Amino acid sequence: MNTKELDKKYIMNTYGRYDVALKSGKGCTAYDEDGKKYIDVSSGIGVNSLGYCDEGWVEAVTNQAKTIQHMSNYFYSSEASKLAKTLCSITPFTKACFSNSGAEANECAIKIARKHSFDKYGEGRNEIITLKDSFHGRTVTTLSATGQDNFHNYFFPFTEGFKYAEADIDSVKGLVSSKTCAILIECVQGEGGVNIMDKSFVQALRKLCDENDITLIVDEVQTGVGRTGRLFCFENFDIVPDMITCAKGLGGGLPIGLCLCTEKLENVFTPSTHGSTFAANPVVCAGANYVISKISDESFLSEVNKKGAYLRDKLEKINGVKSTRGLGLMIGIELEKDNAHDIAVKCVENGLLIITAKNLLRMLPPLNISYEDIDEAVKILEKTIMEDK
Ligand SMILES: *Cc1c(COP(=O)(O)O)cnc(C)c1O
Repeated sequence: MNTKELDKKYIMNTYGRYDVALKSGKGCTAYDEDGKKYIDVSSGIGVNSLGYCDEGWVEAVTNQAKTIQHMSNYFYSSEASKLAKTLCSITPFTKACFSNSGAEANECAIKIARKHSFDKYGEGRNEIITLKDSFHGRTVTTLSATGQDNFHNYFFPFTEGFKYAEADIDSVKGLVSSKTCAILIECVQGEGGVNIMDKSFVQALRKLCDENDITLIVDEVQTGVGRTGRLFCFENFDIVPDMITCAKGLGGGLPIGLCLCTEKLENVFTPSTHGSTFAANPVVCAGANYVISKISDESFLSEVNKKGAYLRDKLEKINGVKSTRGLGLMIGIELEKDNAHDIAVKCVENGLLIITAKNLLRMLPPLNISYEDIDEAVKILEKTIMEDK
């Protein structure tokens, strides 16, 4: 049996896969098992921040694997300490808690927000407001946090205590009560359709949280680590959240989740209130340290913005593209015909790896994509849309 047949026989059917078995990659280019070449503007859903097999990243990860590949969290680890220190010195946050995925990072933030409220106010003040069209993960609690009805199915009973507001300050205010302990948002909703929050809304949320001692959590799982042209997306909104969560692009291709908090929350967890066997793995953290060392540079981030603007400008000139939206290199593309999924499938056939978000095409290319690769990607998309006419 070939890879596709083995997959169909032995792996549970949780994804509608494209008809491609990828084998190797370099930079923005991937190759399948037949040697066919693809330009990748999806980065494994925003994970391969520096593209496939970046030389410096491979060296950092392999050197660490040769030195010590895992120690439990009962021992100190230099790569994890270094990563936490770096992130705390370039953000307003003071402490980190490691995990292995975005959903777990959100679980961690939810636990911190609820325990903080419990410690200060006692039982009962535990509600968390999230937004409609949000996405926060696939665990039972993060599905509950996700503000989309179609995710609240089958797996009953879901974790209690989540309320869903429109992305509108009056809608949020209508749900705030003496039971509210936190508000959790994405500043740009990724899976929900690349929806950018209004700056005035995010700033009003910050004020509302300050006035009511509510913890403001920003889910930066997709938007973090340079994706929107700033180190973290909240910086675009001139606010400081009490906590952020981060995952996808942080490890450059290895599984990591991270929750960062400000000083007032840094001692909420105590030994045995949270943990994870694999979290803070040194190989993964070595990859993340390398990614952060590259992308935290101001000139790198300004290139992300320039490339994003260049790419969107070209996309908007394509006949059949209605509009684009996004920040930095997180881009949603609305088509004139409402057929993003079909176009994505045909793009893959034509050698462009692209994903969708709701009824949009979505691009999350490697942050170091070259202008030549952008041109090539646009050419394939244009050709694909033209063939569909
Ligand atoms: C992908 C994503 C998650 C879930 O991350 P996993 O690593 O798949 O658990 C959570 N929040 C946002 C905003 C995401 O984009």
